[in-house]
Amino acid sequence: MLEDKVAIITGGTRGIGLEIVRLFKKNKAEVVLFGSKKETVDNAIDALKKEGLIVRGYYPNLNNPNEVEQVMKEINDKYGHIDILVNNAGVSSHKKIEDTTYEDFTNIININVNAIFNVSKSVIPYMKKRNSGVILNTSSMVSITGQPSGIGYPTSKTAVNGFTLSLARELAPFNIRVNAVAPGIIDTDMVSNLSKEMIEPLIKTIPLGRIGKTLDIANAFLFLASDMASYITGVILSVDGLARN
Ligand code: NAD
Repeated sequence: MLEDKVAIITGGTRGIGLEIVRLFKKNKAEVVLFGSKKETVDNAIDALKKEGLIVRGYYPNLNNPNEVEQVMKEINDKYGHIDILVNNAGVSSHKKIEDTTYEDFTNIININVNAIFNVSKSVIPYMKKRNSGVILNTSSMVSITGQPSGIGYPTSKTAVNGFTLSLARELAPFNIRVNAVAPGIIDTDMVSNLSKEMIEPLIKTIPLGRIGKTLDIANAFLFLASDMASYITGVILSVDGLARN
């Protein structure tokens, strides 16, 4: 589904991001993963190699415009084009507001929102030049429902939705599609850190009766990245077993 496409996936070293890397690669894209440090990037590349999947990796500071621009230039010089960006890196929180410091709050906004602005801005010139591109963002079910703790996280993901809707309008004239996937509760490290008391009542509220798998989410990204979604832009696609209550 992605033959001849070059795709960059942030937070591609584990969880949902790693599954997207795997699935895009299996669908014949050239995949470049971004991680937060050399060690995790190297480990992910080695693990994928053992599965017969060859990818490149970088670890720019996603909040540093110069660093990200330099890496984008390197990728564009190597492949000649950049077709797909998946802004997947993210952090969450479950602290109560009285335990959340100003730094805790701004750290979440920095990674979940400001970095998406920075990384997207750096690929747009390459996409505009070819009058073609796809930017996909990772939102969350809690951007719609809110959550009873970790105030910075739903705040950041609601901002991701606003960013997605507006950028879709701004870039539509250049044939660049911008969409988001809003996962529900997905089986990754982010969720395995939560207590049983927190997770079990949540599962009971999901009509499809289970938490999601990383592949459930990667499949949605694959569809939106592919030409099958060529008339879809500005959509926040919920993939959550209808857990929005
Ligand atoms: P995860 O914690 O397993 O992976 C997060 C990824 O983001 C990692 O690869 C990590 O290296 C990267 N990352 C974090 N901070 C970074 C930084 N400062 N710089 C660069 N990279 C950084 O989490 P996941 O569950 O796979 O989450 C992936 C995305 O999906 C996130 O945006 C998350 O908010 C979103 N999401 C997850 C769930 C869920 O239930 N797991 C639900 C809704 C949305």
